[in-house]
Amino acid sequence: MKRLVNFQEKDEATAEDWKFSDSIDPSTTIRSNKRQKGNGNKDNKIDRASIKAKRSEMLNFRKQLPIYSGRDAIIQTIRDNSTVIVMGETGSGKTTQIPQFIREAGMISTKAGGIAITQPRRVAAVNLAKRVAEETVTQLGGQVGYTVRFDDTSSPQTIIKYLTDGMLLREILSDELLFRYKFIVLDEAHERTLRTDMLFGMIKKIQRIRHEKAQAGEDVEELKIVIMSATLDAEKFSEFFNGAKILYVSGRLHPVDTLFTQEPQADYLDATLVTIFQIHTKSPPGDILVFLPGQDAIESLSSLVNEYSSQLRPRQQKLMSCPLFAALPPSQQQKVFDPAPANTRKVILATNIAETSITIPGIKYVIDCGLAKMRGFNPKIGVESLLLHPISKSSAWQRTGRAGRERAGICYRLYTEDTFRELEDDTVPEIRRCNLAAAVLSLKASGIENVLDFDYMDRPSRASLVRALEELYALGAISDAGTLSDLGRKMSEFPLDPTFSKVIIKSAEYKCSMEVIAIISLLSVDAIFFTPSDKREQATEARRKFLHMDGDHLTLLNVLKGYWEVKGDPEWCRENFINIRNMKIALDVRNQLIQFCERLGISPTTSCGTDTDQVLKCFLTGFFQNTALLQPDGSYKSVAGNQLVKIHPGSAMFTKRVEGIMYNELVFTTKHYVRGVSAIQSSWLPQAAPKYFNNVTNK
Ligand code: ADP
Ligand code: MG
Repeated sequence: MKRLVNFQEKDEATAEDWKFSDSIDPSTTIRSNKRQKGNGNKDNKIDRASIKAKRSEMLNFRKQLPIYSGRDAIIQTIRDNSTVIVMGETGSGKTTQIPQFIREAGMISTKAGGIAITQPRRVAAVNLAKRVAEETVTQLGGQVGYTVRFDDTSSPQTIIKYLTDGMLLREILSDELLFRYKFIVLDEAHERTLRTDMLFGMIKKIQRIRHEKAQAGEDVEELKIVIMSATLDAEKFSEFFNGAKILYVSGRLHPVDTLFTQEPQADYLDATLVTIFQIHTKSPPGDILVFLPGQDAIESLSSLVNEYSSQLRPRQQKLMSCPLFAALPPSQQQKVFDPAPANTRKVILATNIAETSITIPGIKYVIDCGLAKMRGFNPKIGVESLLLHPISKSSAWQRTGRAGRERAGICYRLYTEDTFRELEDDTVPEIRRCNLAAAVLSLKASGIENVLDFDYMDRPSRASLVRALEELYALGAISDAGTLSDLGRKMSEFPLDPTFSKVIIKSAEYKCSMEVIAIISLLSVDAIFFTPSDKREQATEARRKFLHMDGDHLTLLNVLKGYWEVKGDPEWCRENFINIRNMKIALDVRNQLIQFCERLGISPTTSCGTDTDQVLKCFLTGFFQNTALLQPDGSYKSVAGNQLVKIHPGSAMFTKRVEGIMYNELVFTTKHYVRGVSAIQSSWLPQAAPKYFNNVTNK
């Protein structure tokens, strides 16, 4: 392997070859041991003295954080204002410290309720709760806990609760004015995720109503709001929250050398790998953080790094890859925080989760591929896309900043300086670029009937709101009068996209809940099969035995049946090219969905046996808009929008010609590809969605 990625300016990045030098400083691996000691708090017999020692050790750590010097000012500002905006460098201690400050200042009473801190991502919520439990030397689930979809460690004792923004939205459904909280902290506000944006408007309204009630003499605690963000759009947040006070926390940022490539890189994975090895062979100790767009890129790069690492000479410093993405099981996520073993350099391969929500110690080098997977939506034709997209300048700077947390660092940007100049300044808020059906359903279920006039910080286009209302109407979630139907209310209680919620609810009627729950669980993970590039043929061959003639949904079910027959034997999985890790995640999701169904009175064991058409008909009640019919020339055109669609090569239906197809997603890459495809009959359509197809034929 002789390829090089040439960066501008710095010579240390331009290695001439792949010879590995022996001169590695063994002191590299002795770092941050303090943190390691903090981890294992499993021993119940910890006596008071050791708790005290632990507390003071933790306090010492906390006192070193940049935010700690501003503790008194922060407490005072929060005490004096109903809404406060906190801006601060990533890693300065906003998320872990501010809730502790509030609690330590005695602003929480048992009567008033606790503190909710929202996170756009579940990994972050879980990790932050763990960290703060550790810092407060308490058991997770006691004073400090978290609530994320399908996993809740909070208890009535919980005062500091980290939760995903989606979970807080759900809590509003049962506790309209969020009386269980005195403080709502909306964190990572700069990310402008769809749900955080919805919360801005909803929490602002809840604060106003609680204020009015308190003013009118009702026994109601006022709600305090803290908005935390990592970039400098504080004015905009302040304006939205009626001129809220802004606090700036200065971070500890060491200089970071930023290097661009001289030439555009055609293959960002290859360029990343080359750069990792350039750093490893030529540059001083320090861990590497690589930003990649998604799980698939991370997994393939991870195995490449490990493969090359195993070829290093025995005395050479090792490389260890640590993946970090949302779907990774928590035990493996923790690996990124643990110090590397002796004589090993860590390479953390992360999605933009590591941009601001999670701070990893020990990083000196950042490699930024300049891409992220982003959701897009075209409301005219109703096509949602998940595309690789260039990041914004502000994202690029956040990524760069991760290299200078503890000492001076270097950021390798795998794109040219000209490309950088052409990047957008900021990422467009998600609410402006995604399908709003789930959002609108959730607003309606929270009592906000007029979604067009809702108080949005950035108003989505009217077309996409109307489109969402139409979609919900077609699904039967809203009535002719425009109000939420019984079905819609039930759908809003599922932590799933409305289409999937409807399919699960309908599965009782179609007598196939067992099958539907299993398939939805398997669809919730990235991929069940894996295809190593050097064993493509064997993998395709192995897959053949699971193929169901009616397509991907039932093929997935066959895989699960096979997996159960061998009781999840890892050897069997390897032979059949089945991703055992994703399989386990899917089964975990399945268990959670079963519990959800039981709670909502849907029997999760009802099975249609061999009458598998029932399963497809049931899926069609949610996915009737994701259908296409065969044309005389052998192509498929979508029923909604009359778009030409191509079946993805990875599908069981690839090259098949049937009367009609239904698909889970339409992804626009170079063509409109459909994935998760099954065969349907056009005569099934009117029954699946009477309202929709009456409308279509009337038009
Ligand atoms: P901010 O919200 O300002 O980005 P955080 O409060 O998340 O910062 O983190 C503050 C510091 O706490 C980090 O810089 C890191 O040193 C430490 N920290 C946070 N989470 C962990 C963890 N899970 N393990 C070890 N250290 C952590
Ligand atoms: Mg934070």
